[in-house]
Amino acid sequence: MASIDHTAYEKDHQVSLIKSILLVVIGFSLFAGLTNFAFFDSYLLGSLNVVSVILSLLVAFYYHRSANVKVTSWLLCGIVVFNMLSLIGITKGSSYTLIWMTILPPICFFLLGRKGGSWAVGLSFGIVAGYVFYMRTEKITSSFTNGAFLNIFCAFVVLWLLFRHYEESRENAYSALERLSITDKLTGLNNRSRLDEILTEQLGIANRMKQPMVVVLADCDHFKVVNDKYGHLYGDYVLKTLAEILVSHVREGDFVGRWGGEEFLIVCPDTTIKEAEILIERLREKIASFPLRLKRNVTMTFGIAGKKENDDMTNIVNRADKALYQGKKAGRNTVKVYE
Ligand code: GH3
Ligand code: MG
Ligand code: MG
Repeated sequence: MASIDHTAYEKDHQVSLIKSILLVVIGFSLFAGLTNFAFFDSYLLGSLNVVSVILSLLVAFYYHRSANVKVTSWLLCGIVVFNMLSLIGITKGSSYTLIWMTILPPICFFLLGRKGGSWAVGLSFGIVAGYVFYMRTEKITSSFTNGAFLNIFCAFVVLWLLFRHYEESRENAYSALERLSITDKLTGLNNRSRLDEILTEQLGIANRMKQPMVVVLADCDHFKVVNDKYGHLYGDYVLKTLAEILVSHVREGDFVGRWGGEEFLIVCPDTTIKEAEILIERLREKIASFPLRLKRNVTMTFGIAGKKENDDMTNIVNRADKALYQGKKAGRNTVKVYE
């Protein structure tokens, strides 16, 4: 089964992160700039803070215009790294400015994800470690003993690994949540809300490209009898088996989901009614002859509806439902096309 890119959760998360980090960077740079100019006479550092505010505003403007989350994240991360490296360079690592390196792992991993974050943090830490090591060996500063250098370096590496691990767990948790939110628990098929999305997207494509498209509603015949006679658990087993047969017999690019209860919906993009009829007839035969555990075969009735010009979801599903109803009236275990 083909799937559609589904990253809404990730995107919301990323956009709110970008906004928060931008606000913090601008607010802090303003505060640090004023302090540096007014109290410490540190004009170089103050100018760096002003540059940081201007760059942040430019990035905010870029995001406002382009809504490009990925590029904005890299630009913003670049500003933070630039600030940290310049600060350490200007102060030669004195006054504990190295402590600011500890904010890089959360910011880089949050903004750039596991891979980009690893690169950005690794590179920044590498540059700073090299710089501190150079200053120590060239005796430019006496504040770093061997022990101090080793402590700082190890703390950086631990931070880097910890945040990498955290980001990996977060990404996995998001994917699991995303999967759960679109999956039917019993059958593992697309659930109703996912089917709504698929229908909307596929109808959009078919309408735009002037392609045919078919929607099929399938309902298990006399399912109540199956439940009443063999129990609800056996009914569940039948539903799972039907789901497996449906999934394994549609074509690559078709979508199958559970519409509700013992009803399933199949979406066949770029398919004519004639092609769908052949496919569904084969499916009906397969199901009717499939040996189940209690030997009592179940059958399904299918209603087929083809897309009309500028069709919408409610109309095409309603027509498939009407065809299904005709099939039930005609005695079940049959395939009916909406006329
Ligand atoms: P028809 O051929 O007209 O479709 O008859 P039917 O008995 O299949 O239709 P009806 O709508 O009367 O019954 C559907 C039954 O499906 C009733 C309901 O208890 C059962 N059902 C719905 N969801 C589940 C489920 O998740 N598991 C089980 N075991 N049964 C379910
Ligand atoms: Mg039903
Ligand atoms: Mg039924």
